[in-house]
Amino acid sequence: MKTPYLEINLSKIHDNAKRLRAMLGARDIEITSVTKCFLGEPRIANAIVTAGISSLGDSRIQNIIRMKKANVKALFTLIRTPSASEVHDVVTYADVSFNTELSIIAALSKAAIRQKTIHDIILMVEMGDLREGILRQDIGKTIEEVLQMKGVQIIGLGTNLACLNGVKPTRYNMDHLSRLAEIYEKAYDIKLHTISGGNSANFDWMLEHGSTGRVNNMRLGEAILLGRETLSRKPIDGLHLDAFSLIAEVIESKVKPSLPEGEPGQDAFGNTPIFEDKGEMLRAIAAIGRQDVHMEGLTPTLDVDILGSSSDHIVLDATRTPLHVGDYIRFNVDYAALLSSMTSPFVGSSYN
Ligand SMILES: *Cc1c(COP(=O)(O)O)cnc(C)c1O
Repeated sequence: MKTPYLEINLSKIHDNAKRLRAMLGARDIEITSVTKCFLGEPRIANAIVTAGISSLGDSRIQNIIRMKKANVKALFTLIRTPSASEVHDVVTYADVSFNTELSIIAALSKAAIRQKTIHDIILMVEMGDLREGILRQDIGKTIEEVLQMKGVQIIGLGTNLACLNGVKPTRYNMDHLSRLAEIYEKAYDIKLHTISGGNSANFDWMLEHGSTGRVNNMRLGEAILLGRETLSRKPIDGLHLDAFSLIAEVIESKVKPSLPEGEPGQDAFGNTPIFEDKGEMLRAIAAIGRQDVHMEGLTPTLDVDILGSSSDHIVLDATRTPLHVGDYIRFNVDYAALLSSMTSPFVGSSYN
């Protein structure tokens, strides 16, 4: 096997999906499993679908097309507002899309009429995190306009918190979303089937409050893949945290001083490093770097310290755990490390 590669444990992902499905199911909340972090890789998608989660969401239409072509059987939702240039594909391949802009919904309507189909949409509401969302005072006007359009149908409301600005999902903003659903169903005599309350940051809210109101859907990426909620990155009870790990290979191992020699200046990334003199140490170099992974998100599973990294190297203090040329070293990954290594063309993958 060529290194570096991600080792992906499908049965751990399957277990996580199954356990979360039971946990949320007990509160009448359905899961949309978010697949963007693994680019819609069909083997991973199927490990989730066979755990009983039949709704998959991705922010990239290309990933949805990939899963459809691989015959993954699920309901597919595009969870990023479509761009004007992709509305045709969105109608063809996605069952549902999240929307905030009338001009895009109008384009979806045209495409759906041409394709002789009805495209379902969920309106995303701005609840404070200031990423995507229709302002609350504009929801009524938006629904009114969409009701005039053929080929598109509003099936629910959604919101996304704790992403751009880390605003917490709380009883206050979640109850507010539920109230909005009630108000607009009555006002326009429509049925809002899906109230999609958020992502892996919604766990505390879900567990702490007896009633989850009208919220009956959560979109989970990190919780399923890495077993953590995302407000404080606490492990979720009973989930595997290590379904993914990154393997790299040692290409140099030598005893060297800990203090550089010569005059200090900037490193390759414009930083001026500071050093502590720890005397001589065994310095091992792994053949992996910033072109492969967001290295701040790596935790070695051996007792070694990461000293630094450049585009293509990670340098480790291996004094306590001697490493030799050719040894493999394993790292646990966080979300940023998983996303970056999944999308790097230099990182392979191995499934077990
Ligand atoms: C990525 C994404 C998610 C999943 O977030 P996690 O923190 O991985 O659960 C949910 N909703 C939207 C709109 C997203 O873009």
